[in-house]
Amino acid sequence: MDVRIVLNDRRKFVGILSILLVGGFLAVSLISYRVAHDSISEQIAVDTLPLTSDNIYSEIQRDLLRPIFISSVMAQDTFLRDWALAGEQEPEQLRRYLQEIQNRYDTVTSYFISEKSRNYYHPTGIVKKVAEGAPEDAWYFRTRDLPAGEEYEVNIDTDTADRASTTVFVNYRVYDYGGEFIGITGVGLAVELVKQLVETYQRRYGRQVYFIDRQGEVALHGDGFEGPLTIHQRPGLKRIATQILTSPSGSFSFRRGNRKVYLNSRLVPEFKWYLMVEQEEDPAERRLLKTLFMNLLLSLLVTGGVLLLAYLTIGGYQRRLEQMAATDKLTGTANRQAFEILFEQTVRSAKRKEASLSVVMLDIDRFKQVNDTYGHLAGDLVLRTVANLIRRAIRESDTVCRWGGEEFLLLLPECDLDHARKLAERIRSAVEARSIATGLDRVTVTASLGVAQYGHDELPAELLSRADRALYEAKGQGRNRVTLSKR
Ligand code: GH3
Ligand code: MG
Ligand code: MG
Repeated sequence: MDVRIVLNDRRKFVGILSILLVGGFLAVSLISYRVAHDSISEQIAVDTLPLTSDNIYSEIQRDLLRPIFISSVMAQDTFLRDWALAGEQEPEQLRRYLQEIQNRYDTVTSYFISEKSRNYYHPTGIVKKVAEGAPEDAWYFRTRDLPAGEEYEVNIDTDTADRASTTVFVNYRVYDYGGEFIGITGVGLAVELVKQLVETYQRRYGRQVYFIDRQGEVALHGDGFEGPLTIHQRPGLKRIATQILTSPSGSFSFRRGNRKVYLNSRLVPEFKWYLMVEQEEDPAERRLLKTLFMNLLLSLLVTGGVLLLAYLTIGGYQRRLEQMAATDKLTGTANRQAFEILFEQTVRSAKRKEASLSVVMLDIDRFKQVNDTYGHLAGDLVLRTVANLIRRAIRESDTVCRWGGEEFLLLLPECDLDHARKLAERIRSAVEARSIATGLDRVTVTASLGVAQYGHDELPAELLSRADRALYEAKGQGRNRVTLSKR
């Protein structure tokens, strides 16, 4: 019987190896993804968006602050103030003045409202009188009552003179030379123009640009702006709305659907509006995610390959190790360690099945003399030859073990004492008949054998010691014989 000592470490080893590999690959992939992701996020949050915001801000300075500047020049204009202070004589003069402003600066409208007469002067003449309590004139009284230090208000409204168009108005307060409030002047810029500006920014920088007022209402936006017109209701934004509205500038990121959005906000004090610049997750980030998945897939394949290779290689080594651990190197029979395991099992099984079981203990006679006469190598050859003779004599289900130096133990399941005796006798005569060629010499040896059959009530060790005693008896009776152990 082929005897092996089974090593159970292979599964454990492959398990640990796979944990290490998968863990290592996973850690490396995730860490490198994280690092790249963070650096992209940081680049957007720290560099790209604020830079865009700066650019747009400076363009606003150039484009949108122009009407503020014009309005402030009008508010300081001595002609306008003198004319108003002189009792608003000859309205035609003011009409021409306003006409001139509108033409020269290419604004949609220009106007002056006198506090004294409440007349609304326009390049086409006197349009109307502003009235306290009229909702469409509320802007006048609001600007008039602005706290000291705030000289103007930017207001989006329909034009009093042209109801169809929406205009950004810059309402500037006018004072007399003593600092008394005498009216409001200003110009209007068509919202379409401002929208075009916003859209130019959006196109140029590939980001969404819009303005909100200090309450968070969207004051101005370009095309492609969707969703609620207040940041308190916009998905993702509503949670950071207070944060945005309480600081003059900030960098934020939030999730809109499954997209990450970066936001840069900054207060434009001239308008009391916040300039909002949004950018969705960078395409580079999506590429990054793809790379991560590719990495993981590759890692998985490599891991699978390595594990398979390891499993097979270890399997081969393990089988050899198991065999080596179980066999005697010189004779190729089972060694004592392996035999003991098998012996216990076989005895237990025989007891359970009440099957017969026998053992034979064999010792080569005067083996010391063989060594002394022909040398150790010749002795080794004799041992191998005897082992082969035994192997040839026994059945597939029997086991032979090198029990000691020149002692062999045979385990014979399903074999009673008589059959065991016959087998022992066959082996004895085969050994005796065999002439072993060692170099120039021919060596013949004999062997003594002790046979014992398992009694189902005895301990395994007792069975062995009975076989041993029988062998001892055979030696005592003159060697080269088979002796049975009787109970
Ligand atoms: P007996 O008939 O009483 O058994 O006499 P013996 O000489 O066979 O008995 P003893 O136990 O005194 O001698 C056994 C010898 O077997 C001693 C030892 O040197 C030799 N021996 C043990 N293992 C090996 C081995 O692997 N190779 C060789 N060549 N000799 C071995
Ligand atoms: Mg001997
Ligand atoms: Mg011996």
